Amino acid sequence: MKLSKSGLAIELSKLKAFEDPSAKQEQYPTDSEIAAEVLWQAKMLGDVDDKKISDLGAGTGILGIGALLLGAEECIFVEKDADAVKICKENIEGYDINAEVIQGDINDLNEKCDVIIMNPPFGTKKEHADKRFLEQAFRTADIIYSFHKTSTEKFVKAIAKDHGFDVTNRWDFSFPLKKTHKFHKRKIHRIEVSCFRMQRMQGKHL
Ligand code: SAH
Repeated sequence: MKLSKSGLAIELSKLKAFEDPSAKQEQYPTDSEIAAEVLWQAKMLGDVDDKKISDLGAGTGILGIGALLLGAEECIFVEKDADAVKICKENIEGYDINAEVIQGDINDLNEKCDVIIMNPPFGTKKEHADKRFLEQAFRTADIIYSFHKTSTEKFVKAIAKDHGFDVTNRWDFSFPLKKTHKFHKRKIHRIEVSCFRMQRMQGKHL
């Protein structure tokens, strides 16, 4: 399938989404336009074609599926929530792509890959949830794309440096969040989120 960026966004918008996203698990799905934008940039940077990808905390699989549709060789999806795993598998079934879905904790995955693309929990509900994802990513790949709240940029840069990674790119987005409380006046609440690209510094090896 040869896709343009907007073609990818349309394709990803057809995927099944979370039926009942859990706020406690911080299941903030990536919007299809945002996923297409980041994956397109990744492709332009040479991080997609023929690459082995992992999607940690894959949810319904939008990031990994998008990478596969753009030319990645294979993708491992890791997700602990059984309902999300079920939807992720259904989404994958619609395509002829090389995908493996693992239901479990991200720390169970020891397999190395070329690139990790992930939208982890932001750690607002469960402290350091995003830290655990980053540490796992630093262990298993040289290139990482990861979504975080823009306000945590300092933390992301510091932890990357501590693990021998540079932050090479940052893309800013407004994430639409579903109304969670009756007293919220606006229907769609937004939070500022950035996708950071991190690359292992030269001379440092896995
Ligand atoms: N990547 C998806 C989902 C983002 S929400 C998207 O971009 O739309 C984050 C996901 O991480 C949730 O589905 C949540 O269930 C999962 N998750 C949280 N902690 C996890 C862990 N320790 N191991 C595996 N999955 C986890």
